[in-house]
Amino acid sequence: QQQTPPPKPPTKAPSSPPLPRQNSKTTPPSPPKIITDKNGRVQFNRVGFLGEGGFARVYEVKDARGSRLACKVVTKDSLKTKKAKTKLYAEIKIHRSLQHPNIVRFEDCFEDSDNVYMTLELCPSGSLMDMLRRRRRFTEPEARFFMVQLIGACYYMHTHQVIHRDLKLGNLFLDANMNVKVGDFGLAALIENPGERKKTICGTPNYIAPEVLFDTANGHSFEVDTWSIGVILYTLVVGRPPFQTKDVKAIYKRIRDNEYEFPADRAISSAAQHLIQQILTPNPSERPSLHEIIEHPFFTQGTVPSYIPTSAHDGPPDFR
Ligand code: ADP
Repeated sequence: QQQTPPPKPPTKAPSSPPLPRQNSKTTPPSPPKIITDKNGRVQFNRVGFLGEGGFARVYEVKDARGSRLACKVVTKDSLKTKKAKTKLYAEIKIHRSLQHPNIVRFEDCFEDSDNVYMTLELCPSGSLMDMLRRRRRFTEPEARFFMVQLIGACYYMHTHQVIHRDLKLGNLFLDANMNVKVGDFGLAALIENPGERKKTICGTPNYIAPEVLFDTANGHSFEVDTWSIGVILYTLVVGRPPFQTKDVKAIYKRIRDNEYEFPADRAISSAAQHLIQQILTPNPSERPSLHEIIEHPFFTQGTVPSYIPTSAHDGPPDFR
């Protein structure tokens, strides 16, 4: 494998390591059973709880016509700092500007006296992370199907100057027909000037690109999503992320040293291995473009199923 030498270790650890966001200890009160905005313009019935992330809780709601949606609720208590407000407004601004079949649809946002609400397309089948836990790993045809949709969404984001920066299986939701829907734009960045570089250290340890951690002077750009796409492909076919290990520091060391291997017992095709190795190139400018990825023999010489049956939630489908 052709590689540039791994970047030099930083003299000191990054000042704010990208640890997963922590949930606050105190559980905020549930939003009202009937959610309305200040002016009574919209009304939703809260019918279920879907999950929670770093700063939001997500509920299933029904609108006046009975359509089901997801509703992401952020308490105003958690928005007391200017930084928290700026982050949420950036997420809303970016997410609502994107319309693509493989991106969670942003419907609306509004507030009442206690919370800010975002209504989103409902993804009732959970994330690819939940599915991987049941399946342990995916077949290569399934991986091709999910990757084609993910790469399409990513290409769309990049042509709209958006870097997602947190692509991972837990943020790839599935609709009822097993289509991928990229969600959670909480770490996304808009590139407003061509050539602009981002400096904030963010991402999720297992999926974070080396330049985010080790080239803080130069910053990072669209290629960090390409890196995550490589980590995702590896994780789909192997069943665990390439740099996974017991603690976060050791994960970063492995990322720095480009240290991962393909388990011999999993029979990963040589095309898949070759493509993953190309994507997980430490130097971002040497990573393949999204076009080059989709034109790789892994995709062009293997079957890409036209759909995935819902039975795939619990066992490998038979594509023969
Ligand atoms: P945060 O930005 O706080 O991390 P997320 O957007 O990741 O929050 O959402 C937290 C959880 O809520 C997810 O892990 C998932 O279980 C659930 N969730 C989020 N969006 C949807 C959706 N559109 N449809 C169904 N469940 C969702």
